[in-house]
Amino acid sequence: MSDKSQELFARAEKVIPGGVNSPVRAFGSVGRTPLFINRAKGAYIWDADGQRYTDYICSWGPLILGHAFEPVVEAVVKAAEKGTSYGLPTEAEAEMAELVCSLVPGVEMVRMVSSGTEAVLSALRLARGFTGRELIVKFEGCYHGHADSMLVKAGSGLATAGRPDSAGVTKAAAASTLTCAYNDAEGLRKIFELHGDGIAAVIVEPVGANMGVVLPEEGFLLTLRDITKRYGALLIFDEVITGFRLGIHCAAGFYGVTADLSVFGKIIGGGLPVGAYGGRRGVMERVAPLGPVYQAGTLSGNPIAMAAGLATLKTLKSRPDIYTRLEKLGAYFRKSAANIFDKAGVPASVQGLSSLGTVFFAKGEIKNYDKAKTCDTKRFARYFNGLLERGIMTAPSQFEAMFLSAAHTESDIEYMLGCIKEIAARKGF
Ligand code: PMP
Repeated sequence: MSDKSQELFARAEKVIPGGVNSPVRAFGSVGRTPLFINRAKGAYIWDADGQRYTDYICSWGPLILGHAFEPVVEAVVKAAEKGTSYGLPTEAEAEMAELVCSLVPGVEMVRMVSSGTEAVLSALRLARGFTGRELIVKFEGCYHGHADSMLVKAGSGLATAGRPDSAGVTKAAAASTLTCAYNDAEGLRKIFELHGDGIAAVIVEPVGANMGVVLPEEGFLLTLRDITKRYGALLIFDEVITGFRLGIHCAAGFYGVTADLSVFGKIIGGGLPVGAYGGRRGVMERVAPLGPVYQAGTLSGNPIAMAAGLATLKTLKSRPDIYTRLEKLGAYFRKSAANIFDKAGVPASVQGLSSLGTVFFAKGEIKNYDKAKTCDTKRFARYFNGLLERGIMTAPSQFEAMFLSAAHTESDIEYMLGCIKEIAARKGF
């Protein structure tokens, strides 16, 4: 289909493991080789052969305003002209921290880092340093980046590969992580009854978005808040996907539940490599140089990344209509797609919230990782490839989210629904 992509893949494979710099890009679970991308604008990307696709990956989340959004590009160019990195503080870092603290409930101080993974591992170290305890509870199917202790029953690329764990993770690192089924408040209660005084933190994706999109059941997040508080453990919201996507006040504002620590990435960097962690002042003051928990980074708070992030967050803050529209567009897509599959007699659960969504090819609502794994991944591959042939790029895995951006139009969605109708009606689908 794309000769140039094939050629580039052959080149890349020789010198990059699997030809890609992040596993899910390999397209392995949908039985093909990756497309190499040459440029993007708004809701569209073009591959190396010049073929255009409507893009529902959107760099896996950062690009809520669409590709090459002009105020972001302008801010990046302006910042780059003044120097790409100093290794000394800048005004933009203070402005970014002020903005995040003013927008996210419970965040009184924030530290910038360079990826979601780095933000998570820093927050975990801080939770352990603050509580003097070692155990961390995570939920099955949640992905929190590739820190050793988080590669236990993780979602995202690991779910696709069907590998519960990674080689190279020590038994000790895995043993300090306890896992619980998502949405299983009772299970969490039992874990705390057994290990409560050893648990430093519970980390959760407030909306599960790495086993496909799985919503928290009513009261689930509040129960996590209550249990952690009772046992003196910290609650960490991993808002790498939900942060500034569910709304300008993130999942914490959306659900009205405040975590002790929150982790960010993606949107906060406007498409540049950024992560951040923040929270209660009393906890954040334990971070070096104020406190004994060490964490540092050569490119942390990088001026170009801050410029892209600030341009993105300021646009979102001044344009609440963007969230209203995304919610409407997302809800319309989910309802219409569900109707199409229903009429075609295809078992599917179309789930999501706001601009996040997943078409699960399984019967009934998906509430946790075990249920997500019952999906017909072969049918998903046919769905993915059917869309790709029609110029639509969605995540090449059953266990990832579809991302809408402010650049997607009603007619983009109508076109996609028309394609889904054709695909679902195909013999053998
Ligand atoms: N947490 C969540 C919820 C994520 O979705 C991701 C990445 N998709 C990460 C952490 C890790 O972020 P990064 O890829 O920037 O290291």
